[in-house]
Amino acid sequence: MIETIYFEEEVFDHPTSLHVRKALPRADWFPIRSYQELFNKRHQNFRLQKKQPELILAKKNSNFVLPIPAGFGMDTSRNFYFSHMYNCLYDCKYCFLQGMYNSANFVLFVNYDDFFHSISVIKNENHDASATFFSGYDCDSLAFDKISGFADHALDFFYQHPDINLELRTKSVAVGALFKREAISNCIIAFSLSPHEISKVLDFKAPSVARRLNALKNLARHGWKIGLRFDPLIYFKGWEDQYSTLIANIMLDLFDENIHSVSFGPLRFPKKMYKKIVSHYPNDQFYAFPLEEKNGTVSYGSHLEIEMRCFLERELAKYVSEEKIFQCVLH
Ligand code: SF4
Repeated sequence: MIETIYFEEEVFDHPTSLHVRKALPRADWFPIRSYQELFNKRHQNFRLQKKQPELILAKKNSNFVLPIPAGFGMDTSRNFYFSHMYNCLYDCKYCFLQGMYNSANFVLFVNYDDFFHSISVIKNENHDASATFFSGYDCDSLAFDKISGFADHALDFFYQHPDINLELRTKSVAVGALFKREAISNCIIAFSLSPHEISKVLDFKAPSVARRLNALKNLARHGWKIGLRFDPLIYFKGWEDQYSTLIANIMLDLFDENIHSVSFGPLRFPKKMYKKIVSHYPNDQFYAFPLEEKNGTVSYGSHLEIEMRCFLERELAKYVSEEKIFQCVLH
């Protein structure tokens, strides 16, 4: 677990920092001036840090809520994201965070209320449009929850604002905060999923797909609206059978009414990010697969993407109503 915590001095006594202190009583604490001086340092070794990441507690001062990047969200009139954390406990081989940041250390922004204040401002500015606010773009929304206590705060806020939606996106089974309360109708618990055969190789440190399915079905029984996210779709030998089996297993005792939405999207990386990620895996089979570059994006190419999209649409249509199925951008 985490042995070293760096903290900006002004957040030392913040309630979130106290929560972290309780969760990690044995960690050593070191003061710093600002998180950027550690986190943004050049020439850090992401893969080496990933073996034993350190935690940085910081205060975010601006850009609390941003418009969602193209291809991430669902078909709602307004989509935004907010990141109370950078980096993730898990270590998926395709994770774009390893191409985005120099450091694998975790940054936790302790001032959750400032994020919620910004969300209120956006809500008030856009009172005619229903908006969805995505957590889980720069981290996994729930994986760190035992340490951060974030979910409870977010759910308290969105419970009081039923006209806007929250998506918690996760591969985690740390869903205790959700079972402690009644389900909130404007909160979607969205699980990222891929077939077991591929997940066991690529989703390093993440809970198995079986455990994720168990968690999501229990949450559905508890009344939570579930999102299913097949993003990225991974191509491998036998992918059709494996995705078909996965979808059938998910839907075995899950019903259309439990599902808020299903989305899927191809494996894709911005070119610069892809180059950086590949440099972390010089001899890896996963990155040996020939990808194509078009308009600054690296992907399987349109032929394979269309084949996978059509297959997914056919399989999902067996179980889920059409208006709940969304496709993330194709290139
Ligand atoms: S769960 Fe998501 S954020 Fe975490 S390592 Fe995997 S892809 Fe990255």
